[in-house]
Amino acid sequence: MILTTVNHDFRYELEKLCRIFLPFEKIEIIDTLAEGNAYANTVCERGEEKTRLYAALSLFGKTREYETEIENNSPDYTADCEREIATCLYHCFCDITGYTPPWGILTGVRPAKLYSRLASANGGEDAEQYFKEKLLVSDEKISLCRETNASEEKIVSLSAPESFSLYISIPFCPTRCSYCSFVSHSVEHAKKLIPEYVKLLCEELKITAGYAARNHLRLETIYMGGGTPTTLTAEQMDTVLSVVRENFDLSNLREFTVEAGRPDTITREKLEVIKKNGVDRISINPQTMNDSVLSAIGRRHTAEETEKAFYLARECGFDNINMDLIAGLPTDTEDSFSATLDRVLALSPESITVHSLALKRAATLSTEGELPEKTVGDMAKNMVSAARSRISAAGIAPYYMYRQSKTVGNLENVGYSLPGKECLYNVYIMDETHTILACGASAVTKLKEPCGNFIERIFNYKYPYEYINRFGELMERKARIDSFYETYRK
Ligand code: SF4
Repeated sequence: MILTTVNHDFRYELEKLCRIFLPFEKIEIIDTLAEGNAYANTVCERGEEKTRLYAALSLFGKTREYETEIENNSPDYTADCEREIATCLYHCFCDITGYTPPWGILTGVRPAKLYSRLASANGGEDAEQYFKEKLLVSDEKISLCRETNASEEKIVSLSAPESFSLYISIPFCPTRCSYCSFVSHSVEHAKKLIPEYVKLLCEELKITAGYAARNHLRLETIYMGGGTPTTLTAEQMDTVLSVVRENFDLSNLREFTVEAGRPDTITREKLEVIKKNGVDRISINPQTMNDSVLSAIGRRHTAEETEKAFYLARECGFDNINMDLIAGLPTDTEDSFSATLDRVLALSPESITVHSLALKRAATLSTEGELPEKTVGDMAKNMVSAARSRISAAGIAPYYMYRQSKTVGNLENVGYSLPGKECLYNVYIMDETHTILACGASAVTKLKEPCGNFIERIFNYKYPYEYINRFGELMERKARIDSFYETYRK
């Protein structure tokens, strides 16, 4: 598709808007009016007193046009022009595709943060009015922002300038799920790398503990994720967790999570090792409780195995268990998603995280005729709405939320939790509240200025073989942690 921007420079925002409806379309941006079968022309014409904003969209043999105008002396002239032209284009897309995204023209990953900023400046009512009238966000999503913002603020307030969280990456899984967009290796391919990986990871953890101690940092939360950490053997888990316990000061630790992830990796022995090492929150992620959907996404376990793993974790004493679900999985339906909710709620986990499927390919959307966005997007929209009302009715409230680009229906990911069982780490990483020291392949350390917003990143190598082969080089990069904190001590 051709996106034309005439007399304005809002190409970045408008391209993101087009991606809500056409996530994988190749978009060429030019600055002269286009003609043909697939174009979006956007024009800004400044007159003596008013500016005319205009959008025309041609797609799938249909054409739509919208226009509006704003006063040239508007106090937020440039921002208003950008928003109004996006609104015109949005209406064109909604008319042609028949799909109305519930987040309106909002494309950012942290809508609750924008809501919070507006609410702090002018009050909650103003923020809600702006979301509804100017950004075209649905009432349902506005109330989600309100609730998650209140909860996130409480969690963020627990953090101090010297606080940090530790992330440990285990980028291995038993098999690769068809929808996976992470850097994760199936054990079949990477089994021989794991012993060396564990050895070096322990080394990096010890070095990182030294940086934390020298810079007087206070460890608040630990999150071991991946991948699927429980792909490691019980002995390997014990080795890594013991290194954490023996090298970091855990006296202020508020939360220690291990993503047990896939039920087919969970054994009593591993759960006992995890428990013994002080982990107080685990995640067992069914994604769906429909066996045929599990098979369609390349998972080699059944819903019954998920239930068994859950009961086993309870027997081992875990009283804070999260379960991840995904709305919009291939071959799933609203009825089957509803049955998944029934089975998961029957287990009474302390928290449930509902993700919207992140799309990987163009094939499902950019076809001729009616956009599948309309059918698939509407289905996923109904699934996340059902999740919201059913989970909330069980007393499990939304506490954090973020959005990714290219999700089915342009929807969101929401963490729900019983009061006091929220995952603090999830909020800290998304809000960028404090420093994250991260170890392992593909981990990203984020050094946060203690009393400000500046963030410096240190990237670890993405793949386990690179991490292993270039470990020395990587540790040299991490020396930056000391010099970063040195700057702020002066
Ligand atoms: S379990 Fe998660 S990280 Fe592993 S392959 Fe599946 S989606 Fe990817």
